[in-house]
Amino acid sequence: MKNLFLTLFLFSFIIAFSQDELHCGTDVIMKKIYAGNPDLKRKKEIINKQMAMQSAKVALPNATYVIPVVFHILHQGGPENISDDQVRDGLKILNRDFAKKNPDTTDIIPVFKNIADSTKIQFALATKNPQGFCTSGIIHYYDTDTDWDDQSATIYSHTWDPTKYMNIYIVKSITLTGGFGAAGYTYFPGTFSPGDPYDAIVVLNNYFGSIGTGSNFLSRVLTHEVGHWLDLYHVFGGSNGAGIDCNNDDLVNDTPTTIGYLNCPDAAVPSTYQTCTPGISENYQNYMDYSYCCRMFTHGQGLRMQAALQNNIAGRDNLWTNANLIATGIINPTAPCVPIADFKYNRSKVCVGSTVTFTDASWNGIPTSHQWTFPGGTPAASTASAPVVTYNTPGIYNVIHSSSNSAGASSPVTKTQIITVINQSASYSATWFEGFETSALPNTDWDLTNSSGGANWQQSSDASFTGNFSAKLDKTYNTRKNITSMTSPAVNLSTITNPFLSFRYATAEVTPNHVNTFKVYSSIDCGNTWNVIYSKTGPALITNPGNASPFIPVAADWRKVDINLASISSANYATFKFEYTRDTIPGANNIFVDDINILNTTALNDQEQDALLNFNLFPNPSKGNFILSFDLLTNQKIKFKLTDVLGKSCGHAEELLFNAGNNIYAIELQSKLAPGIYFLTSEFSGKIFVKKVVIE
Ligand SMILES: [Zn+2]
Repeated sequence: MKNLFLTLFLFSFIIAFSQDELHCGTDVIMKKIYAGNPDLKRKKEIINKQMAMQSAKVALPNATYVIPVVFHILHQGGPENISDDQVRDGLKILNRDFAKKNPDTTDIIPVFKNIADSTKIQFALATKNPQGFCTSGIIHYYDTDTDWDDQSATIYSHTWDPTKYMNIYIVKSITLTGGFGAAGYTYFPGTFSPGDPYDAIVVLNNYFGSIGTGSNFLSRVLTHEVGHWLDLYHVFGGSNGAGIDCNNDDLVNDTPTTIGYLNCPDAAVPSTYQTCTPGISENYQNYMDYSYCCRMFTHGQGLRMQAALQNNIAGRDNLWTNANLIATGIINPTAPCVPIADFKYNRSKVCVGSTVTFTDASWNGIPTSHQWTFPGGTPAASTASAPVVTYNTPGIYNVIHSSSNSAGASSPVTKTQIITVINQSASYSATWFEGFETSALPNTDWDLTNSSGGANWQQSSDASFTGNFSAKLDKTYNTRKNITSMTSPAVNLSTITNPFLSFRYATAEVTPNHVNTFKVYSSIDCGNTWNVIYSKTGPALITNPGNASPFIPVAADWRKVDINLASISSANYATFKFEYTRDTIPGANNIFVDDINILNTTALNDQEQDALLNFNLFPNPSKGNFILSFDLLTNQKIKFKLTDVLGKSCGHAEELLFNAGNNIYAIELQSKLAPGIYFLTSEFSGKIFVKKVVIE
C-alpha cells in the first residue's frame, strides 16, 4: 500500500483561456500532401521565389482587391447550422481585420505599430451563383460531412469554381489524418490545379463570428486561414509547430524570426516574447501566430497576399477582375432572391399535452410571410414566423413549411416524422430488473439507434454476469466515430423512496490508447432531454487490461456501477440510454452490459466497484483544512472542485495523478470561506463523487 501526501492550494489558480483552444490544421494537411508528393514541395519552393519577387514589386497602392465569397454551411440540424446573421458577422470581422479597422490595434506593442497595415483586400458575398442565378452567398446543406474528416471521399462536394469564388465551409467538427482536431485549415495556392474543389477553407462554426455559436475570443480563425489561402505561412514558419524552435522563416521581410506562441505573452514583460533573440520582440500579435491575441498583419504580409492575387498558379488572379466581379454579382448585385424554406424546432420528443416551438430558418432570401401545416398539432396551421404548437395525441408527425417575399414563394419543405408524441405512462414500476434473458434486441422494451445505420446492440450468449445472456455490442459492428445506443423502457420511480440504478459492463481494448466512450443518460421528459449520469472514456473505460480480441469477459472483468437516482426519485416516467461512441481511429473491441437493476436501497454509495473506494473526508466540519482518504485500484488522474450550495465554483484545481492503493490527501483553503455548506467534487474518468463539506 502506498501513501501519498500532497497539499493542494485551492484558489491559487487563475482561470484564463488555456491551451485547450484548437489551432490551425494547415501545416498538418500540407505535410501530408508533401509526403505523398515530393514534387509539389519543390514546386512550392519555386512559387515562394515568384511570390517574393512579386511581393517586391506589387504596386496597387490605392486599389483594393475585392474577392467574391460563398459560405457553405454543412449541418445536421443542430446548432452548427448557424444563422446568416452569424455568417455576415464573421465576414464583417474578416473585412475589418484585413482593412486594419479592428479597434484592438491600440493594443499592438509599440515596435509593431508602424508595420501593422491594411492588406487592401476585401471580401463580398456573391449575389450570383455559378449558373448566374440569384444567391445570398450563404448556402445551407444538410450533410453528414459537417463532421468533417479529411478521409471522407465526399468532402468539398459543394465547392463553386475557386477561380471565381473564395469558398468557405463552416462545419461542426474537423478531424484530420491521425485524429488531429483543428479550428480550421486550408491549402496553399498551387497545391492543386486551378479550379480544384479542394481549393477551399474549412472553419469550425464555433470559431467563426462573434454571435450565435461564435465568440469574440475565437473569432479570428477565418482571418488566419484566409492568410494561408493567400499564401502566408505561420510567422514561426511552415514546417514546425508554435513554441518549438526559431529556425524557420515565413518568407516575409518585416516579420521578425519567432518561435511562435500558443498563449498570449504578457505585453508588459518583453522577455516573455523575446525568445529567439534577447532584446528583439517577436510579433506574437500577428494573425498568423497561435497566440489568440492576434491584432495585425504586417505591411510585408499584405504585399505577399497581393502577390498571390496577381499569380495565376491557382487562378487567384481571376477572382478580382472586373469580369468576375460582374459574373458573381459583386458589381450590379441582383435583387432579393426567392427564399429557400427551412425551419428549426426546439424539441423532437414530447409527452402528450406538451408544446413545440417552430422557428423559420429560411435562407437565400429574407421571407416576409410564412405558411405552416402541423398534422396532429394545435393549431393545425399558422402564418406566424415562430408558431408554438401543442400536441395532444400520441403519434409521430410531419411538419410542412413554406415562405415567400416580393421575389416569390419558396417550394414547401416537408420534414417527415420529426415530432414524436408519447403517452406518458411507464411500462414498469420500480423495482425493475433487466438481464437480457428473455428476448432478442431490439424488442418492445428496448429502442436501438446507430448513427450510421446497420447492426447494433444484440442479445448475446457469449458472456453474462448472471443468467445466460447479456447485451453485446460486437467489435465488428461500428465504423469509426459511430454512435450506438440502447434505450430502456420507461420506469416509474415514484413507487420507491431511494432509487438506485445499478448495472455491470465489461470491455477491453484491441490496441492501447483508443478513445472509445461509454455513457449512460437518464431522461424524465419522454426522451426530449438527456442528462449524463455516467461517462467513461479511453483507458478508464477498460475493465480488462489485455488486448485479447474478440474480448469475452470472465466474472472478474465485469465492473459494477451504482448510481444514486435521488435527483429524479419522484419521476413517474424515467428512461435510461446506454450509448457507445467509437474513436476516430479504427479498431475497437466488444462491450457487454448486463444486470441492469433499479432498486430501492439506502445501502449503496454512488460508486464503481473497481475504481475509487472508501472515500472519506475529515474533519468535517472544519475551519478549512481537511484530509481526503481513498483507495484506488489503478493509477488515476483526479480533478477536485469546490462549489457552494448554488453550484457556483469557489476555486479551481489542476488534475493530479494518484497511484493505485491508499491515498491520503490534504486540502488547505488559502482564503477563508464564509461558514456554511459546500460541496467537494472529485472527478475522474468521467465519474463524479460529491462530498458535503461544512466550513465552521
Ligand atoms: Zn495556420
